[in-house]
Amino acid sequence: MALIERFQKTTDITKWHGQIPMSYIYTVGRAGEKFFREIINGKIFGARCDSCKITYVPPRTYCEKCFARLEDHYTEVGTKGTVHTFTQSYEAYDGAKKETPSIVAVIRIDGTEGGFIHWLGEIDFEKVYIGMPVEAVLKPKKEREGSILDIKYFKPVI
Ligand SMILES: [Zn+2]
Repeated sequence: MALIERFQKTTDITKWHGQIPMSYIYTVGRAGEKFFREIINGKIFGARCDSCKITYVPPRTYCEKCFARLEDHYTEVGTKGTVHTFTQSYEAYDGAKKETPSIVAVIRIDGTEGGFIHWLGEIDFEKVYIGMPVEAVLKPKKEREGSILDIKYFKPVI
């Protein structure tokens, strides 16, 4: 079938079975770069819009409400937050089944909008609740590499 021909029936489409190896690079963007560079130092950064009085975490390059540029308004937000929602996961990164589930939560850093997904630790699933105060537990500084996994998990604030 030539490229200029149009398919009349989906069953006319030529197909083959096999695998195509692909690689890709994911860029975190300018705001993401600030976030990941600072997390090496054990700091979580957001982007502040003074007009709207909103701090976004993860940081953004512009305000979603007023479209103001926020690239010069990155601000440290601390490492404490609350559980926005949570669940259990029985799968590892590679899709393998886990015997012991991990607790996965959306964490909203105090005083900010947005949030990010991370694990909860040092608590049983039955004791987790929405609105539970938590704080980040970071890897030792020598082991940090500018990854969200520099935060090992969030634990309850007692
Ligand atoms: Zn704004």
